[in-house]
Amino acid sequence: MAEQVGFVGLGIMGQGMAHNLLKAGFSVTVWNRTASKMEPLVEAGARAGRNPADVAAQSDIIVICVSDTPDVEEVILGEGGILEGVKAGSLVIDCSTISPIVTQHIAQTLAERDVAMLDAPISGGSEGAANGTLAIMVGGDAKDFDRAMSVFEAMGKTITHVGEIGAGQTVKLVNQILVVGHALALSEALLFAQAGGVDLRKAIKAVEAGAAGSWMLSYRGPQIVERDWRPGFTIDLQQKDVRLILDAADKLGVPLPGTGLIFQLYRTLQAQGLGSEGNHGLVKALEHLAGFKIEPPTD
Ligand code: NAP
Repeated sequence: MAEQVGFVGLGIMGQGMAHNLLKAGFSVTVWNRTASKMEPLVEAGARAGRNPADVAAQSDIIVICVSDTPDVEEVILGEGGILEGVKAGSLVIDCSTISPIVTQHIAQTLAERDVAMLDAPISGGSEGAANGTLAIMVGGDAKDFDRAMSVFEAMGKTITHVGEIGAGQTVKLVNQILVVGHALALSEALLFAQAGGVDLRKAIKAVEAGAAGSWMLSYRGPQIVERDWRPGFTIDLQQKDVRLILDAADKLGVPLPGTGLIFQLYRTLQAQGLGSEGNHGLVKALEHLAGFKIEPPTD
C-alpha cells in the first residue's frame, strides 16, 4: 500500500506543498494551528487531523513546515505533538528553516521511538511551493532520503542529499546568506537606477539575463518597482534566518560582515512595524538612508 502522508503547517509554503502532494496522488492528512487554513486542502481531498499527534497516527511520512525552531519543537515534542501519535517505523521530514543543532537533538529523540527524521529545508519562494519547483536540501540517512523521494518529487524540482542530519539546515543557511546579499544588491541597484533617471523596468530586463541575474532580481525587482509589499517571505521570517546564520557563524568563528549589516537593516524595518511585509522591503531601509523612494511607474 502507498505510504500515507501527513502535513503539519499550512502557511504560505505549506499550502502549495500540501496541494502538490494531493495532485501527485498521495492520501494526505493535514493540520494547521489556525484551523481555517485547512479548508482549501480539505476541499481538494485532504483529511483534517485533530492535532499533530492525530496526523502522525494516520500517516507513515509526516512533513512539517512551520516558522521557527521552538515551533518545530512544539509540533513534535509538545502536548498533542507528533511524538504522542507517531508509529514506529515512520519518517518525519522537517521542511522548516531552523537550527541545525536542535534538528540533531530532535532526531535523536525520535530515533529512541524508532522514528527516522530528515531535515529538508526548501528554497524557491511561494511561487516555487505553488508550482512544485522548490529546491530541497536534505540531511539524514541515504535510505530515508530514498524512501522520501516520491514525496520530495511532488513538491520540488532540485532535490539534493547534502549529508547527515542537520546538513540540510546548514546548506539552507548558505542559501540564505546568498538570498539576503542579493536582496541588498537589488535594493542598492534600484535606488541607483532611480537616481540615474532610467526606466526601472527596462533596467531589470536589460541586466537579468547577464552576469547580474538572480531569482531575487527577476521575481522581487518588479514587485519593488510596483511598491507591492505582499510577502512571498516575510521580513520577520527573513530576520529569523539571518539570526540563525549569525548564531551558527559565531559558533564556527566565521566573520560575515555583510550579513551582519543586513541583520541590522532588517531590524530597523521590524522596529517600524513592517515585519509582516515581504523581505524585498529591505529597500525601504535604504530609501530611508538615501532620502528618496523608488517611484512606481505612472503608465
Ligand atoms: P508562514 O506563512 O508564516 O506560515 C507559518 C506556519 O507555521 C503557519 O502554518 C503557522 O500556523 C505555523 N506555526 C507557526 N508557529 C507554530 C506553532 N508554534 N505551532 C503550530 N504551528 C505553528 O510561513 P512560511 O513562509 O510558510 O514559512 C514556513 C517555513 O518555511 C519557515 O521556516 C520559513 O523560514 C521557511 N521558508 C519559507 C519560504 C518562503 O518564501 N515563504 C521559503 C523557504 C523556506 P498559523 O497559520 O496558525 O499561524
